[in-house]
Amino acid sequence: MAGVSSEVPLWGATDTVTVSPSKVETVTTCALRWAFEAAGGTKPDATHQTLGTLLHSIAQTHPKGSLTDLKQELDRRWPELALPDGWPSLQLRKRAERMVERLADYLGDAGEPLLVEADFDLRVGRARLRGQVDRVEDAGDGSVTVADLKTGKTAASKDKAAENPQLGAYQLAVEEGALDLPDGTVSKGASLVYVGTETVSAGVRNQPALAPDENGGSWARDTVEGAADTMAAASFAARNNDLCEMCVVRRSCPLQPEGRKVVE
Ligand code: SF4
Repeated sequence: MAGVSSEVPLWGATDTVTVSPSKVETVTTCALRWAFEAAGGTKPDATHQTLGTLLHSIAQTHPKGSLTDLKQELDRRWPELALPDGWPSLQLRKRAERMVERLADYLGDAGEPLLVEADFDLRVGRARLRGQVDRVEDAGDGSVTVADLKTGKTAASKDKAAENPQLGAYQLAVEEGALDLPDGTVSKGASLVYVGTETVSAGVRNQPALAPDENGGSWARDTVEGAADTMAAASFAARNNDLCEMCVVRRSCPLQPEGRKVVE
């Protein structure tokens, strides 16, 4: 094997590290996967990801949409996917219709949407946290909840959702006043809303409000700052986790049989 080509950190000790909420989650779950993906180790968008983008766009256009509104919008925009004729496309269309039904089910009971697809950009220690929230909903008394729409086929457990770094980053953005909301707005919690799982209605996994710690910070702030430090490091640890089975860089991962040749 060749020797290590560099032991220099990716960022200098005082550099600002730009972090997105989804990257906070990836880095926290497995730093090696983040490093490989950041260096180009990703697959091109698959059709199901394109469908996810379409669903997000429909939800953005109709934040209070009824099932009829959402189905009409799906009809109107379906040609955008430019799918060939055949049963795979028919299957995908059926899946899209079920997703729209679950989305309508969620929107029927959801709080008043105050913001949709809202951008934010704030400093958290050495991190520049930038991202976009799917929905911010009115929770009364100057408080809001954040909803993150998920179109994948599997849902996180309740325990995992309660400490989900992406939701934590969104709540931090609300608490720090980084969204276009009245001064003093507080976050009352956040939710992962699953519309792509095989359930009758949308699956909702909640995260409680961020409780301040003794220093006035929160676990979410610590997680974002920790992710920036991990991304700026000179080495990246592989960490076995629930998503290893689906990891796109597992053939380069020393923890996996197919990737062990990288270090042996
Ligand atoms: S297979 Fe698992 S441990 Fe290895 S890089 Fe991927 S996520 Fe990390």
